[in-house]
Amino acid sequence: MSQRILITGGAGFLGSHLCDRMIDAGNEVICLDNYFTGRRQNITHLLDHPNFELLRHDIIDPIKLEVDQIYNLACPASPIHYQHNAIKTMKTSVMGAINMLGLARRIKARILQASTSEVYGDPLMHPQKEGYWGHVNPIGIRSCYDEGKRCAETLFMDYKRQNGVDVRIMRIFNTYGPRMNADDGRVVSNFIVQALRGEEITIYGDGSQTRSFCYCDDNIEGMIRLMDGDHPGPINIGNPNEFTILELAEQVIELTGSSSKISHLPIPQDDPKQRQPDISLAKAELDWRPKTELREGLTSTISYFEKELSEK
Ligand code: NAD
Ligand code: UDP
Repeated sequence: MSQRILITGGAGFLGSHLCDRMIDAGNEVICLDNYFTGRRQNITHLLDHPNFELLRHDIIDPIKLEVDQIYNLACPASPIHYQHNAIKTMKTSVMGAINMLGLARRIKARILQASTSEVYGDPLMHPQKEGYWGHVNPIGIRSCYDEGKRCAETLFMDYKRQNGVDVRIMRIFNTYGPRMNADDGRVVSNFIVQALRGEEITIYGDGSQTRSFCYCDDNIEGMIRLMDGDHPGPINIGNPNEFTILELAEQVIELTGSSSKISHLPIPQDDPKQRQPDISLAKAELDWRPKTELREGLTSTISYFEKELSEK
């Protein structure tokens, strides 16, 4: 059945892929964004679609709309961007959550929060299960994002307990793919763009820190299953295949055929040493697991950036 869907952060990397999936499924989509890290270019192909509407709005301000479901994705996700204006990042997570939860409560809409593996901080439990409370610095340079997202999770659970709001919480682990910004600062886009430009590949630290990379299409499938299922979450959505950052750099160099050399820069403060999702709950509750191997996902992301960079 066709539904009216609000997607905050809809012009961003993940939001724009979600807009595509929702429109393809015959829904009406309101895409809301303040264009801090998002781009009209990500959704230009949808602008003339009769079921698609674009709103420039900042979620730290309240808004009145009539929808059936709200996907709350608005928030910069890359450390460079979320640290650029740390207070604004915290406001987006906390005031944005309050505004969107208030809206969901008034109009009786189901609402999903795009939370993050960052709620586990620099984890002492490996891999990370949803029951783990995390190891987070409350006063460091990543805290505006980590603690903002943790506070948003608290608000989601309190609106559920206190006001009966129908919430879903998704803990997203590092996700990559086409439509990331070339200057986004996250590791996959950085390495691919550096390799394609023949620039040095910048590894922070010795490259032994690990991440588990999930392709965007797999993420969106998990997001929709969580929204449409019965479990409120939190549920981890990520790819459990874990790689060191050095291994990622080597794969990108190989797949691009680049002559770029690796250089090492200082590791940023509080950079988590390891990260790998335990996805047993997603498998059991959503019958979800990622399908795209890193090689395959990197290959399609490289093709996207080749086109992007050639058009600049
Ligand atoms: P992104 O930066 O591409 O998208 C975020 C979007 O939100 C952008 O379009 C931006 O302009 C918009 N936005 C930011 N602040 C806003 C505000 N105050 N009001 C309205 N719009 C605002 O990042 P993404 O990777 O697509 O991430 C989407 C969501 O998923 C974010 O909430 C992020 O925290 C979460 N997440 C992503 C990842 C990942 O690896 N991609 C991992 C964990 C969590
Ligand atoms: N990283 C790196 N070089 C870069 C960008 C990132 O070595 O040009 C490292 C970063 O220090 C971290 C990992 O890659 O250990 C993932 O960084 P990203 O910013 O993509 O995400 P997050 O740290 O939030 O997982």
